[in-house]
Amino acid sequence: MKQFAIAIHGGAGTIVRSTLSRETEMSYKKGLEETLLAGDKILSAGGTSIDAVETAVKKLEDNPLFNAGRGAVFTNDGKNELDASIMNGKNLMAGAVTGINNIKNPISLARNVMENSEHVFLSGLGAMAFAEKMKLEFAPDEYFFVQERYDQLIEAKENDQIILDHSGKPKPQFHFPGSKKGTVGAVALDVHGNLAAATSTGGMTNKKFGRVGDSPIIGAGTYANNATCAVSCTGHGEFFIRSVVAYDISCLMEYKGLSLKEACDMVVNQKLVKIGGEGGLIAIDAKGNIEMPFNSEGMYRAMRTSGGEIFTGIFKEEN
Ligand code: ASP
Repeated sequence: MKQFAIAIHGGAGTIVRSTLSRETEMSYKKGLEETLLAGDKILSAGGTSIDAVETAVKKLEDNPLFNAGRGAVFTNDGKNELDASIMNGKNLMAGAVTGINNIKNPISLARNVMENSEHVFLSGLGAMAFAEKMKLEFAPDEYFFVQERYDQLIEAKENDQIILDHSGKPKPQFHFPGSKKGTVGAVALDVHGNLAAATSTGGMTNKKFGRVGDSPIIGAGTYANNATCAVSCTGHGEFFIRSVVAYDISCLMEYKGLSLKEACDMVVNQKLVKIGGEGGLIAIDAKGNIEMPFNSEGMYRAMRTSGGEIFTGIFKEEN
């Protein structure tokens, strides 16, 4: 049987057991497992990695526990501004969108940019006009309203802070475990030997001036190339952009002959740490090896290889 494999993430940050109730932990793990299985089902039936990563990310976007789509954080002016990107390792085609509102599944818009336009990256009103043309589903502001996210904005504004969704201090009064869930993403290898990656996010709470993080930037937050690997990142976007993280991992494999594990370790645990870039990523190579490194306290993550055991993890000690 040909190998197939999938990995997903729901954000990295200061996630420690003491701030996460058993019940909340279970809700996250359930969300991760359902998502993983949705992508895995496509792959086990001989479907493509690009379909698998889009389906997985859509499911995470629909889940208000995660900072993407429905559960997106709020901008300074009380809006949800969404970013997403997707890449196909088979032909190096890519699509991305930034600064969009009211699109139910930004990842599907990114895929439309990749497949139905001659462009790679669309922003704001133009991207939304394209979404209309592609007949994508829009959702009203209420759909994106999550009280805890709004409370995070109020607090961030009071302290004049721009908060990375998963790296705030613990606020046990919230149903959600404080500010500790971020961006979502998926990477996959299909039985045809093709790799794909997808990432979607609401960005950072209280962001302003049209701030854009790494998630919709091909090469920074997302990258896929059959010759090397597929990568989806989560963490403090400014550092990930400056380190061109996803492409750097691919380059270390392509030009220096490093293994996926060695490349991930060098970028996440050495290069990013050196400049203070908190976060992590999921990555897969053409043989179906998966790495899920993070230099933060935890990362919501899950993986499965060729119908084998399902792994879901949140904390460091679960590795
Ligand atoms: N990387 C995302 C950004 O900077 C945030 C995250 O991963 O939570 O927008």
